[in-house]
Amino acid sequence: MIVVLAKQASGDQIEAVAGRIRAEGLETRMLYGVEKTVIAVIGHRPPELLQQIQRMPGVETAMPVGAPYKLAAQRDGQARTSISVGGVTIGDGSVAVMAGPCTVESREQLLTTARHVAAQGAHILRGGAFKPRSSPYSFQGMGAEGLRLLEEAKALTGLPVITEILDPRQVEEVAGIADILQIGTRNAQNYPLLNEVGRLETPVLLKRGMGNTIEEWIMCAEYILAAGNPNVLLCERGIRTFETESRFTLDLNAVPLLRRATHLPIVVDPSQGTGKWHMVESMTLAAVAAGADGVLLEVHPSPDTALIDGAQSLSLEHFTQLMGKLVPMAQALGRPVPAAAAAVT
Ligand code: PEP
Ligand code: MN
Repeated sequence: MIVVLAKQASGDQIEAVAGRIRAEGLETRMLYGVEKTVIAVIGHRPPELLQQIQRMPGVETAMPVGAPYKLAAQRDGQARTSISVGGVTIGDGSVAVMAGPCTVESREQLLTTARHVAAQGAHILRGGAFKPRSSPYSFQGMGAEGLRLLEEAKALTGLPVITEILDPRQVEEVAGIADILQIGTRNAQNYPLLNEVGRLETPVLLKRGMGNTIEEWIMCAEYILAAGNPNVLLCERGIRTFETESRFTLDLNAVPLLRRATHLPIVVDPSQGTGKWHMVESMTLAAVAAGADGVLLEVHPSPDTALIDGAQSLSLEHFTQLMGKLVPMAQALGRPVPAAAAAVT
């Protein structure tokens, strides 16, 4: 932390500020300028101290020097985190493809999609059983029955499964079948939920809150890490901007920014991020070019009749087409797309 004293600060005020900092066991270095005095603070300060100092008489401003997140931060020379689930590793330089329906709607819909994405080389099957809907009157997902169907699809294809958890009370139920727990944009700052999944070892894919800055989002990941779960993936899924042509604005700037700021694997969800299926292919390729470790894609056998998110879901044919471009492009960038270990039957 750096503290800048006001030009008119008295000697007593400056001494009071320095004394308050030293009382926390921190060291101070005083820099006396022509007009202003600056105090450089050395050591780990309690987070509250910054604002307390800002309120002291004679203080013009106090600012942090380091990032507020510690466990999520990329340190010099530190290896990036990679996370392995069911024979798939995310964050090791390869590209992981997570694909499936937005929502589990029926046995046939899920199994048809699961078979197709597995055969086309997807590594992880997605599908929501519990859905966070803007309206309480909309279809809320198949719930426990949806989880059971995901289990069946996993046994059928050999693909690990990612599915959303909405409520801290569902941890046992959902983690019982999920290989990766998804925390959605609407729950990104649900701190009791973050703490609860932080008690597990199951990997957690944390979507970015649609109104969150990158720093706020990393602080959400910090909750899970601080609670003891080191297996966190960050997923950019679009933010709210003034633009209305797309459903959200997919912030691909986040990918290189996160690669510098954190060691956690980065996933991009172009389906939620665009809201339009015809934009998904180009934004998926762009995400991989930007350095994403994985992509999360919505695929449906009949997007026109999908109960949720049909407009942004790829048909089976379009998913095949996308994989045909993604694999050679990733390889050209030195990013292998491993053959899935799926056992499609
Ligand atoms: C989803 O993946 O279907 C979903 C609801 O995602 P988000 O939380 O990003 O809206
Ligand atoms: Mn969706």
